[in-house]
Amino acid sequence: MATLERLNFDNTYARLPDVFHTRLAPTPLPEPYLVSFNPDAAALIGLSPEESKRLDFPEYFSGNRLLPGSEPLAMLYAGHQFGYYVPQLGDGRAILLGEIRNGSGECWDMQLKGSGQTPYSREGDGRAVLRSSIREYLCSEAMHGLGIPTTRALCIVGSDAPVYREKVETAAVLTRLAPSHVRFGSFEVFYYRRQDAHIATLADYVIARHFPHLDGLADRHARFFGEVAARTARLMAHWQAVGFAHGVMNTDNMSILGLTFDYGPFGFMERYDPAFICNHSDTGGRYAFYQQPQIGQWNLAALAQALTPLAPAEELNRVLEEYGKIYLESHLSLMRQKLGLTQPWEEDIELVEELLGMMHSSQLDYTSLFRSLGGFDSAPGSRNEALHDQFVDRAAFDAWAARYGARLHGEASVDAERKVRMDKVNPKYILRNHLAQDAIIRAQQHDYSELERLLQLLRHPFDEQPGMKNYALPAPSGEPPVVVSCSS
Ligand code: AMP
Ligand code: MG
Repeated sequence: MATLERLNFDNTYARLPDVFHTRLAPTPLPEPYLVSFNPDAAALIGLSPEESKRLDFPEYFSGNRLLPGSEPLAMLYAGHQFGYYVPQLGDGRAILLGEIRNGSGECWDMQLKGSGQTPYSREGDGRAVLRSSIREYLCSEAMHGLGIPTTRALCIVGSDAPVYREKVETAAVLTRLAPSHVRFGSFEVFYYRRQDAHIATLADYVIARHFPHLDGLADRHARFFGEVAARTARLMAHWQAVGFAHGVMNTDNMSILGLTFDYGPFGFMERYDPAFICNHSDTGGRYAFYQQPQIGQWNLAALAQALTPLAPAEELNRVLEEYGKIYLESHLSLMRQKLGLTQPWEEDIELVEELLGMMHSSQLDYTSLFRSLGGFDSAPGSRNEALHDQFVDRAAFDAWAARYGARLHGEASVDAERKVRMDKVNPKYILRNHLAQDAIIRAQQHDYSELERLLQLLRHPFDEQPGMKNYALPAPSGEPPVVVSCSS
């Protein structure tokens, strides 16, 4: 286990041509203090958790002091935001310190988010607030706990320095880890600048590091796009199956590795509603829950456009056409698992859709309902009261339950075994907005106990955890919902 001085930096992004980035140090943050440290993420880079107790730890993770071996820079990128191309974005409030190679040879980018202005800040102040940093911190670890590809979070460092959003808040820096921070928009910027050589440089860089089996192949760029599309399709299937809405699926927030990336006004759906919009700023509903798989494809089309100098358009189009098939197959497979089914039957899609339709009309909590479905009694004639009583149209539920029971018998499903399987895919705990909000309000008063509790809880979202029953419940109905928007 390494000390901070001995992290094994290997800064390959810094060695790309100068046009890819701007070298600069983070802006100092006044009197930083540690808010939370995540030993699970530390293990990824071989960092000893004892290091978090050092008095100078917050100095390093605020960016006030540079980690030995790091070569700080802001990455250049562009992107389509809400459907419109923005020619230059880039890290406006983040600094890539470099990549750390761990003992197994894996490389992890280390990025400080909220580390001050850069040449790409546009009108922004370069800062992130404690509220949004806690949301990203908790959610990225929650997604990892759920088995969904995501960036990770090492720690949060706070400061009492004021940051002006809709009201005055305080600053924080989140340290993010990811195998790569390259996004669709990293390619787009060079396409629209007509700098084809740079597109090729970036593609070959990403291939060498993340898709080495394609290295040197004549058709590597088309194949690379095929793999990005497949990963994106599978990621969308995961989001839909778990009820996660990202909120800002702009192409600059789309990871080239198919990771859940850049957490802002995201939300886990409570009552099942395909039209769910988690981002208060998304007035048109472009990124509504049901749109996500389609937007994934739209974003891939934007990436395909940027790759046209490297690969034949027919090949790129063929990949785009296959996206839908991969998405549907992945989604159906995940939904089958949620129903505890082990064999693929034609009729399963209807079974899923009917259940979702009933959940929608009965306004049921998506997560809780699936979790309780694990207790389904498949014995013929069983009333399954606990489930039955939750639905408004009880006759419809009974009809569905009869079909589901028959379907289970069709594959000789054993109730007790199925429940064990289902409890491993239907989470008991998700990061509900009101839970995150509680942790945020306390943290704003320098009480981090709730943040720690949630972090621990969400590491194991499928396990029943004693004394944590209330954390599985939807937001209390009397209280106004937590509103989240792009302001972070
Ligand atoms: P996001 O929607 O948070 O992914 O951000 C989109 C773009 O705006 C990125 O280029 C960010 O770096 C930039 N940005 C967001 N917030 C700020 C801020 N407070 N200061 C500077 N740049 C920002
Ligand atoms: Mg972003």
